[in-house]
Amino acid sequence: MWYAVGVNRESEQTMKAELIDGKALAAETRAKVKAGVAELKAKTGVTPGLGVVLVGDDPASRSYVTAKERALEEAGMRSVDVRLGAETTQEELLAVIARLNADPQVHGILVQLPLPRGLDADAVIEAIAPEKDVDGFTPINVGKMILGQDCFLPCTPHGVLRLLGQAGANTRGAHAVVVGRSAIVGRPLANLLSRKAPDGDATVTLCHSATPDLARFTREADILIVAAGRPGTVTGDMVKPGAIVIDVGVNRVPDPTAQRGYRLRGDCDFESVAAVASRLTPVPGGVGPMTIAMLLENTLKAAVRAAGGAS
Ligand code: NDP
Repeated sequence: MWYAVGVNRESEQTMKAELIDGKALAAETRAKVKAGVAELKAKTGVTPGLGVVLVGDDPASRSYVTAKERALEEAGMRSVDVRLGAETTQEELLAVIARLNADPQVHGILVQLPLPRGLDADAVIEAIAPEKDVDGFTPINVGKMILGQDCFLPCTPHGVLRLLGQAGANTRGAHAVVVGRSAIVGRPLANLLSRKAPDGDATVTLCHSATPDLARFTREADILIVAAGRPGTVTGDMVKPGAIVIDVGVNRVPDPTAQRGYRLRGDCDFESVAAVASRLTPVPGGVGPMTIAMLLENTLKAAVRAAGGAS
């Protein structure tokens, strides 16, 4: 859903971009998932279940996990919560994953990252049964994604594709520039956008911290996706007029005037980018809600498959 930017008078004078409403698209997606859950329950008696593993007490991780559990509940799914102390050993964590792998009521497994220091996240992710890998992080799923085979797509990149679809972006032949090459956001996105597919077929440039003169590349982007984890990485002067910009970043920027002592900011300088781009995702309310919605969709897909259906 589109709506014109214009939060206040001052902004109206400078802002040009229309916001891409991730909240509304996520609500629509979640309603569809909820209906799918009800149908599965009615047909098979199966309630989709997600094992949610949180190790340690990182406040951001805790709030992400709480939001995911709330969304699961709202969709009529079961959340199997596993809370472990920061002192948990690798062996203990792997034993938890093995237990969830073997539990027939658990159709998907989510391990909230980052893990506390001393734990090997790669080994933990690799231990997740691929058919329960609803985050799409295991080597099997990543390999299938790269080969264009059916798999669980990673939630944030998948959510970005849906937002681009919602924005009416024509990716075919477009120059998409992705800033950030992490295994969970930037690299899968670059891969998905370059696929021979209706939501792919873009010519993709992948930038990272060793890219000299980042602006030279971002200014060439018809579609610009920023996932650098640093507020202000992209400013308006780095954006091609009329570009579609997806801001994946979520940064807690200290602000004594805010109730919680911080504000959430994306990786783009919102005001200056909104003055140049044609469409832009806000932070919060853009990519974040879609990430959760895609997690629910993948969990339903895993449960449908486990119940013997095709999805
Ligand atoms: P990472 O820290 O794993 O990766 C950041 C990437 O950005 C790296 O590849 C890094 O390069 C690159 N980078 C950093 N600074 C620059 C720069 N100045 N110029 C060019 N490239 C740069 O982060 P994630 O991918 O995990 O997350 C990115 C952001 O997205 C974070 O703010 C995170 O909170 C947010 N996020 C939001 C989600 C959501 O649901 N809304 C989900 C996941 C993440 P190099 O590889 O060389 O170090």
